[in-house]
Order: sequence, then structure tokens, then C-alpha cells
Amino acid sequence: MLLFKTVSSLQSYLLGQKKKGKSLGFVPTMGALHDGHVSLLSKSIDENEITICSIFVNPTQFNDAEDLKKYPRTIEKDTEILVGAGVQVLFLPNVNEIYPENWQTPDFDFQGLDSLMEGEHRPGHFDGVAQVVHRLLDIVQPHQLYMGQKDYQQWRIIQSMLNQLDWNINLVRCPIARAEDGLALSSRNQRLTPEARQIAPKIYEVLQLAKAEIQSLSIQAVKQNAVQRLNSVPEFQLDYFEITDGQTLQVADNKETASSLVACTAVFLANIRLIDNIILKE
Ligand code: AMP
Repeated sequence: MLLFKTVSSLQSYLLGQKKKGKSLGFVPTMGALHDGHVSLLSKSIDENEITICSIFVNPTQFNDAEDLKKYPRTIEKDTEILVGAGVQVLFLPNVNEIYPENWQTPDFDFQGLDSLMEGEHRPGHFDGVAQVVHRLLDIVQPHQLYMGQKDYQQWRIIQSMLNQLDWNINLVRCPIARAEDGLALSSRNQRLTPEARQIAPKIYEVLQLAKAEIQSLSIQAVKQNAVQRLNSVPEFQLDYFEITDGQTLQVADNKETASSLVACTAVFLANIRLIDNIILKE
């Protein structure tokens, strides 16, 4: 695996590969890699001649300084995982490479996609995400970009960003990788105590029940049941549970008229914030 730490060295390598007609797949991450990341990388490796993984803990998308400080950094283990997965290129920049003084991010209009859920509960988060993904894409200029459904709202916002930029990059949404007990894999899971880790899969149980109930109940009733179930777990502190239109991400009120429906939730468990979602109607 080739390792690049500077924009210029990565770009000159990629330019050479593009001239040879190689297809480039890109998987941006913040490291602390797990099988969820590996599922994206494997898909990219299957579909492209060169897969580039970036590891960059982006300070501008953290609205909580403590969360940024505590974000796990496990670069040695990450490197082993990337080599084992067969990734060809690791891009490991520092903050100055990503945000040089003269760098400007365009103004994007996400038409409310960024106002609810994560946007409401983590002010400024999606501005930071759009900023870093825009910058990374400008550097790498891949043919395909791989992102996880785990961060459904993020995926939808990046899709909107690509449409606004009119960049010819194919965005691939990859399914949520879960532990055997259903917990969505996340870098934050390693911060859970063994007791909390036992309780955490209840989030997915509630999402699955919502998926079963949407067949026969109204959106409002499904939401009410889910909220009640999450609130009945004493260790959970519910941040939000919403059933949204999968396109607009606005709260859905009619399951017949919505083109797609997604249930999204964020729950604090022992001070760790976990997010998960399930597609109720595609
Ligand atoms: P992160 O390192 O958390 O910024 O995530 C990097 C990419 O991996 C994002 O596109 C995430 O949506 C994706 N991802 C994280 N966890 C999972 C998972 N459990 N299943 C699928 N994709 C995931």
C-alpha cells in the first residue's frame, strides 16, 4: 500500500494513474477502522482499479471539543486493516494540508436537508462535513465515491452537494454493517463499557419493530411506539427518533405519498452518542 501525506504527492501519483486510464474509487474516513469501513473499501476494490482511503479526523465537523479530543485514533491498526483489505493508497493528511489559508468552500444550499436530526442536534456539523468532503474530492477527483447508509443524512447531503457542483462522480451508498447482535458498527462503540455494549443492540431492535409496524400502523403510531420503547430503557437518553421522507429528510406524515421512508435515531448511552437508521420504504 502506498502512503501519501501531502496533497501534491498524492495528486501527482493519481494523475499518472488517470493518464493510464485507471479507475479510482475513494473512501473517506476518520479512521478507527472497523468492518463497516472494510465493507465500503471492499466494494470499491471490487469496482475500481485503485482504491484510495483517506484518514482525517476533521475538526470542523465536531461541535463538541471534548468529542473531537476523545475520537479514537488507531493509525497502526488501521494500516494493518487497510493492507489486509487490499487497499492500494492511504491518504493521511494533516490539518494544514486539508485547510490551507487560501482554501474556500463554495456556499451550498441543502434546502433543509441539513436542518433536522443531526443538523438540529449538532449545529455546524454538516457545514464541516460538506467542507471536508468537498476538499477531499477536489484533491482526489475519484470516479466513484463510497459512503455508508449508516450516516444516511450525510449521504443524502453529499448527494445534494455533488448535484450542485455538477461533478461527474458516482456516489455509491453502501448498506449498514452490523455486529451479530444487530448493533451498527461504529468507531464510537469501542468507548462503550461492557454493560453498555450489551444494551446497545436494543436500538436496532426498536428500528426493526418500526419496520414491521409500518405495514399496518400510521407513521405517527409507529413513531410513538418507537419513542416509548427507547424511553423504556433506563440507560438510554433519547436525542431524537424521526420518520422522514428519504429524499427531503423532512418529517413524513403520510406513508402513502412519501416516495421513500427512513427511520433515523440518535441515542445517548453512557454519554456515548449512537446513531442508526432503517429504511422503512424504498
Ligand atoms: P467515519 O469514519 O465514521 O467518518 O465513516 C466513514 C464512512 O464509513 C462513512 O461513509 C460512514 O457512513 C461509513 N460507515 C461507518 N460505519 C458504517 C457501518 N456500520 N456500515 C457501513 N458504513 C459505515
